[in-house]
Amino acid sequence: MLEALREQVWKLHLELPKNDLVKWTGGNVSGRDPETGLVVIKPSGVKYPDLKPEHLIVIDLDGKIVEGTLSPSSDTASHLYIYRHRSDVGGIVHTHSPYATAFAAVNKPIPVYLTAIADEFGGPIPVGGFALIGGEEIGKVVVESIGRSVAVLLKNHGVFTIGKNAESAVKAAVMVEDVARTVWIALQIGTPDEIPAEQVAKLHDRYTNVYGQR
Ligand code: 13P
Ligand code: ZN
Repeated sequence: MLEALREQVWKLHLELPKNDLVKWTGGNVSGRDPETGLVVIKPSGVKYPDLKPEHLIVIDLDGKIVEGTLSPSSDTASHLYIYRHRSDVGGIVHTHSPYATAFAAVNKPIPVYLTAIADEFGGPIPVGGFALIGGEEIGKVVVESIGRSVAVLLKNHGVFTIGKNAESAVKAAVMVEDVARTVWIALQIGTPDEIPAEQVAKLHDRYTNVYGQR
């Protein structure tokens, strides 16, 4: 079932260790099939090099497993909560990437200190409150606190990113770690200035509507 999406979500999982966003079995990716509305997600606690496309779970938005023999990711209920509440979301990523998670550990949002933050996130990267792992509590925090951003830091835990598809969500996960690292370095050598909101809006608009190949 959903062979192309399975293959895509499997390949995208490999980007997480490749980009130093996860260690061992932490983190997960899911993608929603626009036609059936079904979701493909990582099995829980499987090491990335061992993961194969056929290990991924196909599940409906109510949490009923449609295909797959392994137990789905511990964050499955939270991914499904986000899909049910955000019809614009087609992909979700969770990581414990270290620089971004350090901001989450101290409950600090990442202000717009860099054009890359304005471009990708269109504003500060917010922090949501603490939530336990295993149910849909994390999903509720993400929906409540992410606003118009594509990333949110989860207090004491890690990062959730969203996108129109799984690839966009993985890109946001790579970008959030990259900017968190640069901001961390900047904070060691001085006090960065925030980019004014009006300029942030212009940068985000250009990146969204003009940048790249049309
Ligand atoms: P899973 O292996 O169950 O997806 O858990 C990883 C994780 O980071 C939980 O928050
Ligand atoms: Zn986690």
